[in-house]
Amino acid sequence: MRAFASSADLTDKTQTLEIVGEGVYALTAEGDPNVGAVEADDFLICFEAMATPAAARQWLERLREHTDKPVRYLVLSHYHAVRVLGASAFAADVIVAHENTRFLIEERGLQDWESEYGRMPRLFKDPGSIPGLTRPTLTFTETVRIDLGRGRFLELRHLGRGHTEGDIVAWLPDQRILFAGDLVEAQAALYTGDAFHREWSTTTLDRVAALGAATLIGGRGAVTCDVPAAIGQTRDFLEVMLREVGTVHRRSGTLKEAFEAAHAALAPRYGRWPIFEHCLPFNVSRLWDELDGVERPIIWTAERDRAVWNQLQS
Ligand SMILES: [Zn+2]
Repeated sequence: MRAFASSADLTDKTQTLEIVGEGVYALTAEGDPNVGAVEADDFLICFEAMATPAAARQWLERLREHTDKPVRYLVLSHYHAVRVLGASAFAADVIVAHENTRFLIEERGLQDWESEYGRMPRLFKDPGSIPGLTRPTLTFTETVRIDLGRGRFLELRHLGRGHTEGDIVAWLPDQRILFAGDLVEAQAALYTGDAFHREWSTTTLDRVAALGAATLIGGRGAVTCDVPAAIGQTRDFLEVMLREVGTVHRRSGTLKEAFEAAHAALAPRYGRWPIFEHCLPFNVSRLWDELDGVERPIIWTAERDRAVWNQLQS
């Protein structure tokens, strides 16, 4: 039997800091969650907070080799624990997220913390450094524009439901750089356990593509300048799941059959990418619910994680 989720993945990944544009930084890590930062004239905007303050402090130390501007805004692309629980390390004036993210943190943030810690313990460097749930101090529903000075600005936009019901992206129109959060992955498997597959694979990704980014930093994987390929891969992953799970669902098959069909269809192209085996049971379970008409994802708890894993990955 496979080790649960990513619990056996204990080897640290190499982190790479890239300057992807003028005053634009991305830290990628071989498929671990990415983070970034954008310089305004006299402050910084950080994108994503990592899983713990201890992990975030290591990122900030590297960023401080390039700039000593204070962090005014910390932007959270969505509510997942490995993206938000390091927030206190940034000492940001404002923590920005979508209104639905605020709701999700209140509704299921504690369960998600426990679930993600169990699934991905390596990302939780010094878990005792987490002071509690991260709560946004500024939320919005459509767009927020942050003035960077000298006529430049950063746009935070909600492009529809996708990886969660509260995803936002950070868009720099003058340099055509996009921080896409987990709406787009670059050669890393998708996690869709809290997703809205049909909306994500159609209108939401259409809107991401319509921005016309030249450089994209996805939720995981390398910085890419082949943006259509990254969006196309994300869409293909979702479409294959919809097709395979949908076929089994329509003929009143079982969840286990749907998992096996999706696994067989996805593995040749995506099976070697980070977190593929970890994610797939949770992905198929959520899509099955979605096809059953369950509008909002059922809350993942540590117990439910194990039950689904034992049912599908054993
Ligand atoms: Zn996520």
